[in-house]
Amino acid sequence: MVVTWLGDGGFRIGELCGLHLIDLHLREGSACGECRTAHVHLCHRELNPNRARAKVKHPWTIEHGVLHGGLVRRVSPAMIHTYFEYMTTEYPRDAEHGMLLVQMHGPRRGQPWATAAARGMLRRAGIRLDLGRIHPHQWRHGFATSVLDASGGNTVMARDAGGWASATTVDVIYGHVDVHDPAFVAALNTVWGEQA
Ligand SMILES: [Zn+2]
Repeated sequence: MVVTWLGDGGFRIGELCGLHLIDLHLREGSACGECRTAHVHLCHRELNPNRARAKVKHPWTIEHGVLHGGLVRRVSPAMIHTYFEYMTTEYPRDAEHGMLLVQMHGPRRGQPWATAAARGMLRRAGIRLDLGRIHPHQWRHGFATSVLDASGGNTVMARDAGGWASATTVDVIYGHVDVHDPAFVAALNTVWGEQA
């Protein structure tokens, strides 16, 4: 799940470890009304128990149990699939912290997963699979490159797909891409290997 979410979502490891279940709107027509298709809201929180933090600080709020705001990022079908598999087979039923990723082994089992532990797992997996030293940022770079290729070199799309804070000139001249822009949707579908 972690690899799928890093590869298809282009998340920073801090963003991924900082996700709360309430940030995930994976069904069509979420109550937030901010994006029709599956998405997550990246929300900066200073006080996560695992100290993971989203870098972006867009304002967010919870109204009547529904999260609004933060930075909306699209979610691929493969991400949803791995999420449901993880939630039904691995996620501890008695977790009260509400965070998405938890420690699976050891004395901290069930506690929110720290970014250092996530990095360590990926590093060990890389060594075990003879892939050399694996760094979570590699997926983010790969994601950006794929979106750039799939969108015909559209740097604004690539930037917004990964939530990069941008060079201000690009912002001023081109603005932002609408997450429902058909070209953007098509680019993501290509990256995710989905039919348009
Ligand atoms: Zn939403």
